Amino acid sequence: MSKFFTDRLSSLVPYVPGEQPQDKKYIKLNTNESPFPPSEGVRKAVAEEASKLQLYSDPECTELRREMAKVYGLPEDWFVMNNGSDETLNFAFMAFADEKHPLVFPDITYGFYPVFAEINHIPYEEIPLKEDFSIDVNDYIGLGKTVVIANPNAPTGKYIPLSDIEKIVKSNPQNVVIIDEAYIDFGGESAVALVPKYDNLFVTGTFSKSRSMAGVRLGFGIANPALIADINTVRFSTNPYNINRLTSKAGAAALREQKYYNDNCKTIMKNREWTEKALLELGFEVIPSKSNFLFAENPDIDGETLYLALKEKGVLVRHFTKERIKQYNRITIGTMEQMQILVDKIKEIKGELGV
Ligand code: PMP
Repeated sequence: MSKFFTDRLSSLVPYVPGEQPQDKKYIKLNTNESPFPPSEGVRKAVAEEASKLQLYSDPECTELRREMAKVYGLPEDWFVMNNGSDETLNFAFMAFADEKHPLVFPDITYGFYPVFAEINHIPYEEIPLKEDFSIDVNDYIGLGKTVVIANPNAPTGKYIPLSDIEKIVKSNPQNVVIIDEAYIDFGGESAVALVPKYDNLFVTGTFSKSRSMAGVRLGFGIANPALIADINTVRFSTNPYNINRLTSKAGAAALREQKYYNDNCKTIMKNREWTEKALLELGFEVIPSKSNFLFAENPDIDGETLYLALKEKGVLVRHFTKERIKQYNRITIGTMEQMQILVDKIKEIKGELGV
């Protein structure tokens, strides 16, 4: 740290992203990317836009929001587009949480929430999940605080039904409830359906997972126009050109090719079922998942040992050091071929460890 770093930020502990190794080729099952490339139209749209990069992008994201409106069935002013849902979440925390509206979220959830709270000096409380990693909805009823819930949750993959989300939203009318739906397209029911009914519901989503575009950085928020206007106040005070020209074209093209992405999601869900069964047969405990990953532990193999052994064999999964989950690994669902290799490598490791 330099002597110039301000006291205000010097104690900040940054978020640690999953490894993106550039040295050797791994089977990458560690950051919940899609194993499938973007659709044909996306590649074409990006190539065509390359000759216009001397011009700024459209700060209103007109084309993108027009396509979003068609896919999600709400008017264009119910959408805000951001540089990944990470940025949407950061802006939403800035807009809707402070000392008067402290944040609450589960103790086991997306690791960026406490970091965004810290950088914005927002007080926050972590509510422990139940023993089986499920949310006790009663913990969030009538809290009078700004709530953020990832549904499905990460890194567990656990999903709570829309009726429970609605209870939480309804019982906290003076606070915004942020539902992070990064993984909703892998079998869950979206809370977007509730957005017209509740003025305090803010739903976030991303193109990084189900739409195969982690590399373009495109996320969004869906809410009534008053909440969207607040996010735009933050956005235009930070970086109005947060969506670059290539990202914008890629996103709009993807929204016109939904069938391709929906089919890919179905494939991932099928592969998830196969992998879950294979892991269960190998003695793992697997949390039922509605996301594009599985959270699993094996009572005979230490979580970190398995992560390191798989890495040694060219398969990257995600291991977290937090006490409550250190026995687990989070495994992204890839192609059947990748899943077969994962299972084969685990069998090898079990043999080597004699368990
Ligand atoms: N929310 C959750 C729960 C996530 O796991 C992730 C992915 N790291 C994100 C949001 C952010 O995704 P992105 O910024 O790529 O849209």
